[in-house]
Amino acid sequence: MDITQLVRCPNCGNYAQRRYFYREEIMGVVCPNREIIQTECSSCDYLMVVCSRNAQVIEAYAPGIPTTIHPKIGQKLTPQFEKAVLAKAIG
Ligand SMILES: [Zn+2]
Repeated sequence: MDITQLVRCPNCGNYAQRRYFYREEIMGVVCPNREIIQTECSSCDYLMVVCSRNAQVIEAYAPGIPTTIHPKIGQKLTPQFEKAVLAKAIG
């Protein structure tokens, strides 16, 4: 069953939607436990889709974060990206 939560957007601080859903493969990325977490903010266009098991990025977009540190699809969420998003949310 799909679960949707209201969370704070890590990029702009407004309300964002976090959706948990089950899919074995999404956009060419295989998720071992089929559990996908998608965080989407309509205020700033922030989008993060990761596999909950191995933190493999399926899709990531954060406005205002340099594309050079954006995690690539199929790679793990990079600490630099998380730090940049966090720094932006605080600052
Ligand atoms: Zn946002």
